[in-house]
Amino acid sequence: MTQDIALDIQESLDQVKTVLNTQRSEATVLAVSKRQPLERVEALLSLGHRYFAENQVQETAQKWPTLRQQYPDVAVHLVGPLQTNKAKQALTLYDRIHTLDRPSLAEKFASLAEQGHAIPPLLIQVNTGEEPQKAGVLPQEVSDFTTYCQKDLKLPVDGLMVLPPQEDLPTVHFAFLQTLARRVQLPHLSMGMSGDWQQALPFQPSFIRLGTALFGARPG
Ligand SMILES: *Cc1c(COP(=O)(O)O)cnc(C)c1O
Repeated sequence: MTQDIALDIQESLDQVKTVLNTQRSEATVLAVSKRQPLERVEALLSLGHRYFAENQVQETAQKWPTLRQQYPDVAVHLVGPLQTNKAKQALTLYDRIHTLDRPSLAEKFASLAEQGHAIPPLLIQVNTGEEPQKAGVLPQEVSDFTTYCQKDLKLPVDGLMVLPPQEDLPTVHFAFLQTLARRVQLPHLSMGMSGDWQQALPFQPSFIRLGTALFGARPG
C-alpha cells in the first residue's frame, strides 16, 4: 500500500471529525467505498474506521465478505437503489439500508421477515425535489408510507434519507427532510455528501455519506 494514500485518507478523516466536534454533531461518518481501489478501503480500515457504505449489491458481495472476516466489527450500509429480486441477498450484506423507496420493496422485506429473515434498520428515501427520474417516496406520501411500513408490515423503519437535486441549494432539502422526519417521529436522518455535508450539520444528520472527501476521486 502506498503510504501517501493512507496519510491523505487519515488527514481527510481527521478534518471531518474536527468539524463534527466543533459543530457538536453526533453524525456517523459513512465512508462511501463504491468504485474505490481496495487499498484505500484497507487504509481506512487499518486506521480503525468501521462505518462504510456501498451503492451496489454486486460490488458489495465481491468486496465485503472477505473484508468482514478480517474486520468482523465493520458496518456496511446500502445507499444505492435496491432491486426487489436482490432484497434477500441484501439482508446478508448490509447492516442498514438507506433506500427503502417504494411499497413493493417494503412488501418484499415483510415477506422475508415472515420467512424468518432478520431485517436491518431501514431508512425511507424521500424524493424531496419531486424529480421524475429519481427514486424515493414523495414528500406528501411519507406519512402514509411510514405508517404502512411500521404498523402494517412491522418493518424496523427509523429514519429518512435524501439525495437533493443537483441544481438546488441542498440546505432547503436538508431542512425539509428534518421537518418531515419530526412530523412522523422518525429519529434518524441520512444526508450530506462530500460536496454539502457541512451544510447538512445544522439539521442534525445521524449519517453523513462521504466518498471522494475521504478517499479522493473515484478512478475511471
Ligand atoms: C456515491 C454516493 C455518495 C458519496 O458521494 P461523494 O460525492 O463521493 O461523497 C453518497 N450518497 C450516495 C447515495 C451515493 O451514491
